[in-house]
Amino acid sequence: MNIAVIGTGYVGLVSGVCFSEIGNQVICVDNNGAKVEMLNEGNVPIYEPGLKELMVSNMQAGRLSFTSNIAEAISQSDIIFIAVGTPSLPSGEANLSYVEQVAIEIGSHIESYKIIVTKSTVPVGTNDRVRELISSISSQPFDVASVPEFLREGSAVKDTLNPDRIVIGTNSDRAIKTLKKLHRPLTENLIITDIRSAEMIKYASNAFLATKISFINEISNICEKVGADVTRVAEGMGYDKRIGASFLKAGIGYGGSCFPKDTQALIQIAGMVDYDFRLLKSVVQVNQDQRFQVIHKLEEALGSLKGKTIAVWGLAFKPDTDDVRDAPAIDIIQHLSDAGAVIKAYDPIATANFRKEVDVASISWEENPLQAAEGADALCVLTEWKEFAHIDLTELAEIMKDPIMIDGRNLYSAEQVQASNLQYYSVGRPGLT
Ligand code: NAD
Repeated sequence: MNIAVIGTGYVGLVSGVCFSEIGNQVICVDNNGAKVEMLNEGNVPIYEPGLKELMVSNMQAGRLSFTSNIAEAISQSDIIFIAVGTPSLPSGEANLSYVEQVAIEIGSHIESYKIIVTKSTVPVGTNDRVRELISSISSQPFDVASVPEFLREGSAVKDTLNPDRIVIGTNSDRAIKTLKKLHRPLTENLIITDIRSAEMIKYASNAFLATKISFINEISNICEKVGADVTRVAEGMGYDKRIGASFLKAGIGYGGSCFPKDTQALIQIAGMVDYDFRLLKSVVQVNQDQRFQVIHKLEEALGSLKGKTIAVWGLAFKPDTDDVRDAPAIDIIQHLSDAGAVIKAYDPIATANFRKEVDVASISWEENPLQAAEGADALCVLTEWKEFAHIDLTELAEIMKDPIMIDGRNLYSAEQVQASNLQYYSVGRPGLT
């Protein structure tokens, strides 16, 4: 099939590459000329395991190309995916200006029947708006479908090639037939539904996962007070098939470009129809508070943070990505700086992106984890990168001024900690604090 993907971010680029990998002819469009140039040279602007190799091999096979010329991409395609960003507005609502702009451009260039598929996460009713915008400009035939994306950064290629399910929301039999054919090589789990339900499935899924995370984080806070171990509690819960083991890892809360903005957007979507989504509002508040557990533990260990040197391991919102959008590390580092601490930060991949997000004077960017920890009064682990898990904790304790570790991700086992001299605080594991 001939496919155009508009937007070459985490979703658009990975989708485009994977559609070409399963034999389609794909042309990816971005209005960022520098990005398109980089992609055409075979370089990937984001860090995503396995993406570059797959992208280059499909470019070489002649199935994948990049352009900033949207008219050219539309004329060469039967299916057009919209995969541009829908970031939060200050109100929490999704900013739909990028999606609307693309709809207007499609309307201006469409010259024959197309299937327009929205992959971006958009509030209920947005696909109807896309249809209206295109129809107001063009009288060419087209169908609209909502096919929300569920990939996870860090395993985006794997998730896209082996999705749990594909949701196809449309009222057109013709579009259903084509989109089933396109996605069937990826999974048998094709959920065919109406557009509004498809739009809602995406928000409901993310809100539910965020709820699981805030739930286990609240349980971890109680575990600390009653002397239970949240990792064992989560294990004991997770074997129950009705609950499931995933997303029950206590820590410093969720971050990234999806859960924070999508939970806020769903609260707004509910509010627009006079529904007060109390549960989700609490999930968001719990998540925000959880970030500051790291600070409370630091203060418990050190007293005032003024003039103290704090090492930070991990800036990305999760491992295997360079994405720092709404990473807990942003709030934590800002708070440390406001409290007068001197920060020594290290991340294997995300430092360059992080430096654009925070503007604090009292921070140095270190080359490796031990360099960051050297001479520090305390160390905070904020992202569970694999390279941190293998560090010799005895050596670490020796190079720190005070061997205090706040492990926000429960990265280390009791054995590892007990064999070292660390004064160790983790999340919901009181035996280990
Ligand atoms: P992103 O910000 O990484 O990428 C968006 C891209 O669109 C950018 O490269 C930008 O230059 C381009 N763009 C913007 N306007 C354009 C236009 N008019 N023409 C052409 N290109 C344009 O965004 P992302 O993280 O890939 O997310 C895209 C959407 O997918 C969002 O709605 C997001 O919520 C959703 N989503 C994201 C993830 C994720 O893990 N990142 C997962 C599932 C769903």
